Amino acid sequence: MSFSSEKNTEKPEKKAQRIHEKCLTVDTHCDTPMLMVEPGFNIRDEHKSPSSRVDLPRMKKGGLDAMFFAVFTAQKSRTEENYNKTYALANQMIDSIHSMLKHNSDLAKLATKSDDLAKIEKSGKRAIYIGMENGFPLAKDISRVEEFYKKGVRYITLCHSSHNDICDSSSDSKKAEHNGVSEFGKQVIAEMNRLGMMVDVSHASDKSFFDAIELSKAPIIASHSSIRAIAQHNRNMTDEMIKKLAAKGGVIQICLLDEYIKNPDTTTVKYHRLKDLHKRYSNSDKMTDAEKEALYKEWNEVDAMDQDKLPTIKDLCDHIDHVKKLVGIDYVGIGSDFDGGGGLRDCADVSQFPNITMELLRRGYTESEIKKIWGGNLLRAFREVEKVAVKMRTNQLHL
Ligand SMILES: [Zn+2]
Repeated sequence: MSFSSEKNTEKPEKKAQRIHEKCLTVDTHCDTPMLMVEPGFNIRDEHKSPSSRVDLPRMKKGGLDAMFFAVFTAQKSRTEENYNKTYALANQMIDSIHSMLKHNSDLAKLATKSDDLAKIEKSGKRAIYIGMENGFPLAKDISRVEEFYKKGVRYITLCHSSHNDICDSSSDSKKAEHNGVSEFGKQVIAEMNRLGMMVDVSHASDKSFFDAIELSKAPIIASHSSIRAIAQHNRNMTDEMIKKLAAKGGVIQICLLDEYIKNPDTTTVKYHRLKDLHKRYSNSDKMTDAEKEALYKEWNEVDAMDQDKLPTIKDLCDHIDHVKKLVGIDYVGIGSDFDGGGGLRDCADVSQFPNITMELLRRGYTESEIKKIWGGNLLRAFREVEKVAVKMRTNQLHL
């Protein structure tokens, strides 16, 4: 039997595994650092979903070469006390990532440049990048952008679910505060461009997105967002936004979170309990620490309900198909939001990522297209962000 006919009779699982292993794979968003600051969580151990979806053994199993660990802080009212507490929490999370890497240097390594991934992958280790979800810890101090850059942060998600000092959010029930990106936000974007940090527009309002696209000298990314034409959520991107993002060389990293993938079934108990939790969460500012802890516990319990009713990889791939049809294959990737609400019925944790490759193959995607989805597109955008920074610093490009 010739080599090519052997390939022709190759089982789909085997073929998917073979191609998946050849890809440099990147997931641009997980909230695992929230677990890492909890006592007793050891990333070297293999855990079980839904309570944990990312660890080093399962990254290896799932052929995931790189993960962006998000330093996430919830938006609170902008008081001096909250600024200080949030800044301290962000630093605690960053320190926990660095300390984790120190203790697991045989398995993982910090990555800060686009080209680090290929080098780290060759050594058989996992590449860990750091992103910051919500610019709240900047606390209107522009010098903190560089401070966090020096600590390894390579993207900042401008806001979270409420308006902040940088821009308006897509999920805030209050009316727009800045009508898009604020004056401080303009400085933040310029500073991120200068340093070579990716501007992340996930969670930003539509107007904030359009402002960021105009303001940024480099491509911008959506680290974990899906398609509004398929799932009608404000957090998702419209076709017009995706066209602008692509024209600028950016990338949308499809998020594996149920309501961003499929319109929710509004008749379920889970749907109503989550709605209620969202409402209570928006008032969590006034809660005591014990009340907040109880709320998070309840949230985790509700989140774990109806795992058998979650959307599937087929639903996820409909989003990828949509982007490909709209703007081509070069502008889409994966940002799971694992440990932050992400998880599908048949992709509940990082170990199941090869299932996505299998579905893409089933739909006729080529090996080179799959490589682009799994990391090629994101790395191209990241490389361009780095190039723009070099040009700006050497005065070849003026603000
Ligand atoms: Zn998020």
